[in-house]
Amino acid sequence: MKITEHIAAAKETLLSFEVLPPLKGKSIHSLYDHLDPLMEFRPSWINVTYHRSETMFKKKADGTFEKVEVRKRPGTVGICAAIMNHYQVDAVPHIICGGFNRRETEDALIDLDFLGIDNVLVLRGDAAKNETFFEPERDGNHYAIDLLEQVTRMNNGIYLDEDIKNGGKTGFCAGVAGYPEKHFEAPNLEIDLQRLKQKVDAGADYIMTQMFFDNEKFYAFVKACRDIDIQVPIIPGLKPITNKKQLSVLPRIFHVDIPTDLSNAIHRCKTDEECEKVGTEWLVQQSRELKKFGVPVLHYYTLGKPKVIRDVVQQIV
Ligand code: FAD
Repeated sequence: MKITEHIAAAKETLLSFEVLPPLKGKSIHSLYDHLDPLMEFRPSWINVTYHRSETMFKKKADGTFEKVEVRKRPGTVGICAAIMNHYQVDAVPHIICGGFNRRETEDALIDLDFLGIDNVLVLRGDAAKNETFFEPERDGNHYAIDLLEQVTRMNNGIYLDEDIKNGGKTGFCAGVAGYPEKHFEAPNLEIDLQRLKQKVDAGADYIMTQMFFDNEKFYAFVKACRDIDIQVPIIPGLKPITNKKQLSVLPRIFHVDIPTDLSNAIHRCKTDEECEKVGTEWLVQQSRELKKFGVPVLHYYTLGKPKVIRDVVQQIV
């Protein structure tokens, strides 16, 4: 079922979760162990992130280094199929431009369609670890909007090979990313929002946001979107803070602010357990307020912390 259909049919605020593929070498059961405690809350869907390969230098026996491509978390498509089969819930793969040319993307989309996957979250991806700026593959999509246009063309039965006439139409519902605190490469929030609007005008069915810890930033973002006539559902992405390190790691990696009250409260904690308690309370409060604000869905990044998310969700359902 499409995310837009889930939202249209909803009588109350929906829940959805996001998981990372397990590290290479771990079994699918490690993912089930992660998800099992959350399934009683009947999430409407589960997102599965995508992780491209990284270039690394591996030390050889003779002391020299060998350049190797390592993919630490493969399996996004297989995991989506496994989740749908195991839990009978929709799975939403994240698809990215980075690391794929358009033909490889087309083949991947065909696989997803054959598997009965109705939704994709369409993203550009970040620069590879050994690059300063994002570089598309040769004949690859450059921006999320280019990938989105490829998805939309396939939804209209148009494939890269012009000889394919009356091609089968895929039926993907496509989400795109939005940044309440601006994407870090955009010159300013206004330009970032115009680019977001271009994605919506190109066919995006909904927006899923980057994490944020201050609801006021989300409310301002929603208003700014509505002011420029972005009318699709906007789904807040939510994550708990569970240790002190995150106070500097999250702003550095995700370019988000941590409110002073939350930062001070975490600083005062003496153990990770205390941090988890503070992070849980903050997220419960955030979730309650967002629910009251009328968000269609509360989307939780579970990222190794299913117990914390369980504690939060238990308090808001
Ligand atoms: P885009 O929409 O292409 O925007 C990227 C930048 O380019 C922005 O600054 C935008 O303003 C600018 N821009 C857009 N169009 C143009 C144009 N025509 N000319 C000039 N500039 C332009 N990454 C992963 O690798 N795997 C994941 O699973 C993953 N999941 C994510 C889930 C969510 C909800 C979010 C918010 C992010 C996720 N990311 C993931 C990270 C994402 O790939 C990065 O944030 C990436 O840097 C930008 O992706 P985007 O889709 O927003 O890109």
